[in-house]
Amino acid sequence: MKYNENFRKLSDSYVFAGINARKATAKEKWGDKLLDLGVGDVKLPLFPVVAEEMKKALDEMTTPSGFKGYSPSSGYDFLKEAIAKDYSDKGVTVRKSEIYVNDGAKDELYDIFGLLNPDSRIIVPTPCYPAVAEANLLLGNEVIYVDSDEDFIPYPPFGTAADAVYLCSPSNPSGTALDYKTLSLWVNYAISANAVIVFDGAYSDFLSDGYPDSIFRIPNAKRCSIEVRSFSKGYGFTGLRLGYSVIPEELSEAGKFKKRKSGCTDNGVSYVTQRGGLSCLSDEGRREMKKRVKYYKDNAEILRQALKSKGLKYATGDDSPYVYARCPEGFSDESFCGLLSDKLGIIATPGKGFNQQKGDYFRLSAFSPRKTIFEASDRLSEFNWLK
Ligand code: PLP
Repeated sequence: MKYNENFRKLSDSYVFAGINARKATAKEKWGDKLLDLGVGDVKLPLFPVVAEEMKKALDEMTTPSGFKGYSPSSGYDFLKEAIAKDYSDKGVTVRKSEIYVNDGAKDELYDIFGLLNPDSRIIVPTPCYPAVAEANLLLGNEVIYVDSDEDFIPYPPFGTAADAVYLCSPSNPSGTALDYKTLSLWVNYAISANAVIVFDGAYSDFLSDGYPDSIFRIPNAKRCSIEVRSFSKGYGFTGLRLGYSVIPEELSEAGKFKKRKSGCTDNGVSYVTQRGGLSCLSDEGRREMKKRVKYYKDNAEILRQALKSKGLKYATGDDSPYVYARCPEGFSDESFCGLLSDKLGIIATPGKGFNQQKGDYFRLSAFSPRKTIFEASDRLSEFNWLK
């Protein structure tokens, strides 16, 4: 038998599977006192407005007239209209026909990069969300890592040929948000290189005012960009699974291929989940999301203050549910995360997992209830790792 050789380019397990192994060991020692700030999964429940809408949709489905079978593969009109309105309320024009509803950004990123010819050259600024590099290796693309500067801002490698660029703002793991000027440079680069920007807005709800929350705010971006968004983090849909991408009409061939691909490989997202998504975009849903995002961002600030009290340097990005910090002198990311889990009962993610080759950073996720964050902050503040 002959399997896809590209699988051999991947490490044995995805980074977060490795963390789960560390967690299992630490659990034996710490039991219920273990604090999991490793994987970026949300821990707070769904908003009531979402649950009510989904229950209503499910009840409809028990009636002959309300039953729904397969969803249209790019999503129901009611959700696409709400998404287009959400954009227009923020001053960005996106047409319903440019929206593709999907079951989350992780799968979608694989699909979007899959629109390119295999062997494409993909620029991936580091540190970055690990699934993107792996998806491209699996697709047979060449990944060109570009280090961000000391403030975790990536700049375009003018003069380097590429077919696509992955950008994420605010970034996982650093939390850095890209401003208008930096994004404009990337748009200019993409146009001159004839490359497509795949803009990951999985955390766009966490952006502070003043930063562009969509690549389409940048002049000419529609000529070269696809935007990928998710309901996972702001609305708590990591388990339900819902997202969307925007492929502008200017990239008509990409849109055509995307539709063609969906036609043969997926049958859409469940009606009930899409109704949940609709309620997210209602006034009440958006209000709840803003409160939730503030809660997670405040959590991150509590963790940052604890690290600051220990003299640790962290990425300045405060538009994010993550804290990305430098390990103390003398520790690698692996050894420091090992120490945190063994001595403090705190699970963290080593920076290497985000393709940060130096291996001197670690990431804490702030997606937990406040009690967990205070406990983690106390343990970090009281610990002396020099001993
Ligand atoms: N993009 C980034 C930058 C992420 O950090 C994540 C998840 O952590 C995703 C995409 C995937 O999100 P989803 O839950 O929509 O698949």
